[in-house]
Amino acid sequence: MVLKDSIKVLKNVGDERTKKLNMLGIYTLKDLIEYFPRDYEDRSKIKKIKDISIDELNTIKGYISFKPEVMKIKDISLTKAKIKDETGEIEVVWFNQPYLKNSIELKKNYIFTGKIVSKYNKNQLESPDYEIISEKELLSTGRIVPVYSSTYKLSQKIFRGIIKQALDCVCSQITEFIPQNILDKYELCERNFAIENIHFPKNQESFFKARKRLVFEEFFLLQIRLFQIKGFAKNKKTNIVFNDFNTDDIINVFNFILTKAQMKVINEIKNDLQKEYSMNRLIQGDVGSGKTAIAMTAIFVAVKNGYQAALMVPTDVLATQHFLSFKNIFDKIGYKCILLNGNMKKKEKLEAYEQISTGTADIVIGTHAVIQENVVFNKLGLAITDEQHRFGVEQRSLLAKKGENPHILVMSATPIPRTLGLILYGDLDISIIDELPPGRQKIDTISVNSTYYERIYNFMKKHADLGYQSFIICPVIEESEDSDLKSVIEYTQVLKNEVFKNYTIECVHGKMNNTIKQKIMNDFTNRKIDIIVSTTVIEVGINVPNAIIMLIENAERFGLSQLHQLRGRVGRGSDKSYCILISDSKSKISKERIKTMTNSCDGFEISEKDLELRGPGDFFGTRQHGIPDFKIANLYRDINIMKDSQNAAKEIYSEDYNLKNSKYRLLKDKIKESFDFIGNSL
Ligand code: ADP
Ligand code: MG
Repeated sequence: MVLKDSIKVLKNVGDERTKKLNMLGIYTLKDLIEYFPRDYEDRSKIKKIKDISIDELNTIKGYISFKPEVMKIKDISLTKAKIKDETGEIEVVWFNQPYLKNSIELKKNYIFTGKIVSKYNKNQLESPDYEIISEKELLSTGRIVPVYSSTYKLSQKIFRGIIKQALDCVCSQITEFIPQNILDKYELCERNFAIENIHFPKNQESFFKARKRLVFEEFFLLQIRLFQIKGFAKNKKTNIVFNDFNTDDIINVFNFILTKAQMKVINEIKNDLQKEYSMNRLIQGDVGSGKTAIAMTAIFVAVKNGYQAALMVPTDVLATQHFLSFKNIFDKIGYKCILLNGNMKKKEKLEAYEQISTGTADIVIGTHAVIQENVVFNKLGLAITDEQHRFGVEQRSLLAKKGENPHILVMSATPIPRTLGLILYGDLDISIIDELPPGRQKIDTISVNSTYYERIYNFMKKHADLGYQSFIICPVIEESEDSDLKSVIEYTQVLKNEVFKNYTIECVHGKMNNTIKQKIMNDFTNRKIDIIVSTTVIEVGINVPNAIIMLIENAERFGLSQLHQLRGRVGRGSDKSYCILISDSKSKISKERIKTMTNSCDGFEISEKDLELRGPGDFFGTRQHGIPDFKIANLYRDINIMKDSQNAAKEIYSEDYNLKNSKYRLLKDKIKESFDFIGNSL
């Protein structure tokens, strides 16, 4: 028998079982042995009959002391017998399996695993799994026992038997594709040991070894594939030289004291900037954690040392907002800051190009406009992208190409689980801002259904009367964008004409003319508008500290991380802020997700929960980046193995990125086999 053989070659696998196994995606022996257990039961601890515990699974070793008898009570047949060990005797019963009468033999030794139930003052072992003690290896009792998921009416016992049979036949044919030096370095067991022990672990230790190896393997293959597709940018040597790292002049201009977390990240950046390799760093920080000040400080260092710096952001609104706050700071220092947006007039653009190419402009803030062909920098030393998740890898590298190996910083407010971060941004060093500026009040998050509208509207009016502003967010589903967009517009009309007659209320959405949108946003910033109704265009980066209420309609239709980002638009000043989630959904998952939002304000925690509730396939960024579902690796728990596998992948990739060397032949084949389907979509 060989791995490629159909499962039909196995004993006890006829047409019907073949069909059932096919439904699980199992066609060959290889498929079968790579169908890993979903769970395990530890049945290895054998108890004496006198020590059994009621209402729990117990494993007992003993002989049949009373010949099995079948009796009928109504429609149920009971097969009863007794088991004895040196400490006592207990009754055992099986339901509707009269044939056991003939297969269970008096005086023979067996191992049983089953639940002990106490009835009429008598203990009974109910429907236990049992195996006779002989030369043959035990599969369902007396050991750590695998439990397989959805076995399509194949009993666990039969499933175990089939898997064991396959393992015995082909396990020795399993080839090792991870190079020996990597196995040694990361203390990994061989593949055949891993496969054997993931099904039938000899003991706990072999299980852990097996699992570690298989998790490693899963991450490792994906990581190499990702490197191959994205190109792992080993930090490039650069000729950019910075000498002056004193940042007092800018830090004194800030009207706040930097948090410890901000200082830590600034130091990490300074450290990078002293090396002869260009920096390649991702800053992950929750909304409002103060990434802008960090970007400003890094830019300050670049300009102080005679270079230009660029900051690219995803929307015109955000670019303008950033430009104004950068200008405010850098005017005081005497560095020239300019804006480059898609919606600027041609003349304005040409003027900007001129200032960029001559070096009159020290700092350029803009949208994708910054990476257009006509933009030529005089001396770009630092390139920053904000809200990284909105940009593709190519855009990031296009910006970098505007200089000669400039330092690169990317900033993201989308907290993603750390393991996923490592996978997606494996080529970047990561800094995490794990602290919010002081004095922030926790945003009160409240979840209600639509019977509360009246009260909520009154709440908003009351706060508008006090001079505060509010957001109302409506969901937009992309496929039916038009009909939903109308609902944003219509909803605004209703609110304008009926509910909020005496207040100013406007709407913004993605399909709106840019100039109008910009004007509305400016009016909102300048407090000329009380309430803004919006689609998720508001999600990214808007900073209006006076807006303290955010109402989110159909909250169940947003991802948790997205809700968290939306919520981050309030609570930006020192006043108490509120986020009101409206949902009439009765689904259990929706309720749990909304509860996560009302319970937690920690973006990382929320993203982990999101991952847990939706699974990685659905998670923001995974599907988009083509990350396949993991068979055995767990994105939360296996971060250390992930790191090891990433280092190993880096080693191999930097030595031989095409895996040309013959020692990598098996590895190369395996990668091809595993990721055929991802293609080049990454
Ligand atoms: P984000 O990380 O979401 O980009 P911002 O950089 O926009 O956050 O900062 C959010 C708000 O917090 C801004 O109004 C900013 O001025 C303020 N801020 C930043 N750092 C501090 C600090 N250390 N102390 C007080 N306020 C701060
Ligand atoms: Mg920001």
